[in-house]
Amino acid sequence: MGGEEIMVEYVRSTKGRPPLPEGPFLVVGLARSGIAAARALKAHGQAVFGVDAGEPAGLDLLRESGVDFETSISGVDRLEGVGTVIKSPGVPQSAEVIVEARRRGIQIMGELELGWRMFEAPFVAITGTNGKTTTTELAAHLFRSAGKPVSAAGNVGHPVCEVAIEARSGLDVGTVVCECSSYQLEDSVDFSPEVAAFLNLGPDHLDRHGDMESYLQAKLRIFANQGDGDVAILNADDPEVAGSRSLAQTVSFSTEGAPQATITLEDETVMVDSKPLIEVGEMKIIGRHNVANAMAGAASALAFGLDMEQVAAGLRSFTPVPHRYEPVAEIEGVIFINDSKATNVDATLAAIESSDRPLHLILGGSSKDEPFAPLAAPVGERCRGIYLVGETADEIGQALEAADLEIVRYCEDLEAAVSEAAGAAVPGEAVLLSPACASFDQFRSYEDRGDRFRTLVEELNV
Ligand code: ADP
Repeated sequence: MGGEEIMVEYVRSTKGRPPLPEGPFLVVGLARSGIAAARALKAHGQAVFGVDAGEPAGLDLLRESGVDFETSISGVDRLEGVGTVIKSPGVPQSAEVIVEARRRGIQIMGELELGWRMFEAPFVAITGTNGKTTTTELAAHLFRSAGKPVSAAGNVGHPVCEVAIEARSGLDVGTVVCECSSYQLEDSVDFSPEVAAFLNLGPDHLDRHGDMESYLQAKLRIFANQGDGDVAILNADDPEVAGSRSLAQTVSFSTEGAPQATITLEDETVMVDSKPLIEVGEMKIIGRHNVANAMAGAASALAFGLDMEQVAAGLRSFTPVPHRYEPVAEIEGVIFINDSKATNVDATLAAIESSDRPLHLILGGSSKDEPFAPLAAPVGERCRGIYLVGETADEIGQALEAADLEIVRYCEDLEAAVSEAAGAAVPGEAVLLSPACASFDQFRSYEDRGDRFRTLVEELNV
């Protein structure tokens, strides 16, 4: 292996928290994290009121917790006397109540920041355009399988403020592994995780952030308050990420042979500090992008002192997260992969590049105004069939015309696409649902779309 030996960095200390900000509190946005924030504040004996511009579900929980709230209002009328506004990640900066609070000089912070301040536990924070949920679940699994208490939190459906409530009730929440979206990070103030990982950056959510630069700046908040006792984990293969600056000690990972990386891939073996950790084929998750996620997760666990054997054992037993490049069946030599969570072009590119089999790829859904042109070349190289569905079918078809593909078919719906793809695929090939689009044109959610795909595949098998 040769070369200079680089060590994995360890977290040197865990830290205290700044005090809670001044009340009374106005929680804006009452979906899951807003409800958790309001309940956590109530549990801390704070004066809190909740508002939502719409009529969200699940408000019984607030009622039961004794939190007063009002729905179908902007919330501007409720700003009088408020010390701090807690902004839910779903609420845009342009919302009237946020603009007005800012104009009046009222402190605004996100639910992540609030939850983090409420209890002292070591934090691993994970961000990136794609792979956050996978890496968060994977890292949490590494701690759990090594017998260490851990909570997976954040965007994975378990807001940090819920963990705060659990911690207050005496539960040992252990290390908190937290999926951090750009929306949560942009409203952070002093948030300072002991370990922070930045996986990748590609165009997404530009409707909210405006441009790539503001999106990047939101993501970089993850490192903003780290110190030299902390660890920053960076993807050396992504130029935007690799160029990030942090005061923390840095560990970088690479699946593409970046020379400065601590965690690397050599002959299909993941190496840490030039020592073998695990062979790629020993893991149940598949695809290059998932090897990258495994490297980031492993670095997080190693930074907290888990040993190589513990990490390798956890990587071996971790099962794919549903809807994320998840193999769902093998029928007569054809593998069917559900990647319904690929709601942007970068995620689909990762899926295409990860596949070692010729592909029958199902693309299309609802639009996020992202260009599809980057798909043309890889699709031309790797795909034997393209099946277009949904609102964006024509737009994708036009983007692929540039590559002069004769394999493109327009399908009425997912059922028709699965049936055509399965009919065309021969042993040794794969049928991949990786739509590069959101799902709201024909489905309730990406989960609904992925479940439908799985059912359609199961029906092929009878
Ligand atoms: P997030 O929580 O960031 O949306 P997920 O783990 O839910 O990430 O995965 C979202 C989509 O991105 C899935 O289609 C998945 O296969 C793909 N993906 C996962 N990890 C990566 C990665 N490191 N690079 C690119 N795409 C990825």
